[in-house]
Amino acid sequence: MFFLKYRPQTIEDLDLKDVREQLKRILAQKKIPQAFLFAGPRGAGKTSAARILAKAINCLQPQGIEPCNQCSLCQEITAGSSLDILEIDAASNRGIDDIRQLRERVGLAPARAKYKVYIIDEVHMLTKEAFNALLKTLEEPPAHVVFILCTTDPEKIIPTILSRLLRIDFRRGRPEEVKRSLEKVIRGEKLMVAEEVIEAIIGLADGGFRDAQKILESLVLRLGKKINWPEAQPLLGHWENRQPEVFLKLLAQKKLKLALAVIEELVQEGGDLVDYLRRLLDCLRQLILVHHQVGVEVGTELKQLANQFSLTQLVRLSRLLSQAALEGKKALLPQLPFQLAIVEFIEERSQVVSSLPPSPPSEEKKSRAAKSGAKIDSQSPAKIELKELIQRWDDLLAAVKPMNHSVAAFLRAARPKAVQGETLILEVFYRFHKDKLEEERNRRIVESGLNQVCGCSLKIRCVLGQRPTNSATSKRQADRTANKQEQDNQPVNSEDELYRLAREIFGS
Ligand SMILES: [Zn+2]
Repeated sequence: MFFLKYRPQTIEDLDLKDVREQLKRILAQKKIPQAFLFAGPRGAGKTSAARILAKAINCLQPQGIEPCNQCSLCQEITAGSSLDILEIDAASNRGIDDIRQLRERVGLAPARAKYKVYIIDEVHMLTKEAFNALLKTLEEPPAHVVFILCTTDPEKIIPTILSRLLRIDFRRGRPEEVKRSLEKVIRGEKLMVAEEVIEAIIGLADGGFRDAQKILESLVLRLGKKINWPEAQPLLGHWENRQPEVFLKLLAQKKLKLALAVIEELVQEGGDLVDYLRRLLDCLRQLILVHHQVGVEVGTELKQLANQFSLTQLVRLSRLLSQAALEGKKALLPQLPFQLAIVEFIEERSQVVSSLPPSPPSEEKKSRAAKSGAKIDSQSPAKIELKELIQRWDDLLAAVKPMNHSVAAFLRAARPKAVQGETLILEVFYRFHKDKLEEERNRRIVESGLNQVCGCSLKIRCVLGQRPTNSATSKRQADRTANKQEQDNQPVNSEDELYRLAREIFGS
């Protein structure tokens, strides 16, 4: 498992920049605080950071503030065999016994290390009794003890405990941080991964370091050490279904089986259900705001998604999922309340299907909005010239890429040819590109990008142009193109041809 193999071993290795910097500052001080709270979602590196901190304060030959990872103490801690580093999982039934034992033994001097370190995972799960026992110990900890309390749910920790802790927040990673962590694996495993693939993984992991490494690992298992975009893309589908917006779209389309499978996979892979539910709820919250026309800054895709639900459905689904999040914490099978909520929601929808508003095409949406006098979006008709659009082409590519990198790639291979009224005519050179760009979802991405970059609403239409045979294509391809010149304007359908074209765009 890449996630275990490449688990950070030094402060510098840690994925989150602000956590690294906070810990560096703390370790540079003479006096180490005796109680920490590491708060944040699962997979953000709390336990790794706790172990590194335990090593850094106990290492026999520290390198500045970093642990050496060579001395006997460092090695014991890495192996999890140190008698002085105690990891307690508060979520297990043993929590209360462990805390009792902790209270009895906390006064005893460490066996070998300078500090005894108690790492208490999921500390918010402790029973009230155990919490009180812990609180007494935290009031006056012996000088040789350091507590590191970890939690995915800091809101659950009572203020009296919070006030005694130095809190460090672990958040989801920024794209550059996730990239840094992926690059560590790529170097370590001597992989060759196309840039497009790396970017796709970063997008799909959405800030989850563990997820990013798992996606990469699943690709390596299927494709080996050299990973190109055309082979990787079809394998990324099930990760895509896990994006909150895509998952909600599955619910809108009543794809129950697929939605249940997404949850099941998430659990099988050790994902954080509570964090996932929180992200879904945040997305639902945004959709509710869109319905109330609060915050017109959201993208077209979110607006479109909002239109697939009635306001009542969004509220109902938010309630069901909040309830599932609460129940999941106590359930024997934590995914079950979540899955039942989904079943309940989709079944209700099916029963009232005839009374649902149809998902309105954009024209209808606009006329409805006009009738109610409400402003539904900030778009204004096109007032842009082709010249200006060409100048801003790179901005458009940059705006579209985070929404969908393959759409950006198709756009990169296209040319703005003319602006006719409110329509931008795009010249593309392959039937495949035309088909892809004209798919409803992709077309909306491009149009939303145009709106962002040019501040006006433009529709797009693609026309097939003569394929260029200049330096943009390699000589080999140019030769082949020349041989196949007469086929150029023919529909391109065979799978071989699609892959060949994809390779031309993405490189192989
Ligand atoms: Zn050491």
